[in-house]
Amino acid sequence: MENKALLYFNGLVEDGSSCYMRFLHTKPSTVETATVHKIKVKQPDGTEKTKYHKCLETGCPFCAIENCYALQRGYFHIIDYTDNQEKLWSRTPRLLKELEVLAQEYENLHEVVVKVTRVGDDNRADYKITVANQKNFPDTFEKELIDKPLAQFQYMKRNQDECIAFIRDGVFPERKAFVSKEEYKKQKAAEQANAQKPTTPAPTKEDIEDSLPF
Ligand SMILES: [Zn+2]
Repeated sequence: MENKALLYFNGLVEDGSSCYMRFLHTKPSTVETATVHKIKVKQPDGTEKTKYHKCLETGCPFCAIENCYALQRGYFHIIDYTDNQEKLWSRTPRLLKELEVLAQEYENLHEVVVKVTRVGDDNRADYKITVANQKNFPDTFEKELIDKPLAQFQYMKRNQDECIAFIRDGVFPERKAFVSKEEYKKQKAAEQANAQKPTTPAPTKEDIEDSLPF
């Protein structure tokens, strides 16, 4: 199965709204958490978009900026039953506490479809989790999704130089386009066939231009 970057879940924006979902985790401890900075990234059309960038911790250029606070985020891997899609839900770790309550009842969180209801209409909203009627949700999801390492986290970190350039220019420096391993092998074989020395090293996963909020 291809490990591609996931869609972000962006539902539950209004107070009282609810949604059926399945958490693709065995236990709350398998939810990825990260310390991130909220930054404004310039878009090609000149507008700004708020994104989250992972804190580099040691020598983090964002930590050095006044008023650029670091905050905790949890990244919940879910199936959204509104459209049956696998998604990533970025929330404060307060949602983890709700999952811990659920984990007291269920050995594996992914066993149950739950109804999640938003309580509150600001950034500090909480979420109430209740167990849904399982008969309405057949157990047909791909089991290999459970606790799957997510592609997003392989690419989420820009290096210190890139962050410094971002602070200076308002945009991250461009990265080389990602070339898959297979494509790289093909290119390499073609180069060798032509008896040419490769002039640039192969882009690694780190070089992928992330379409993600980091
Ligand atoms: Zn930082």
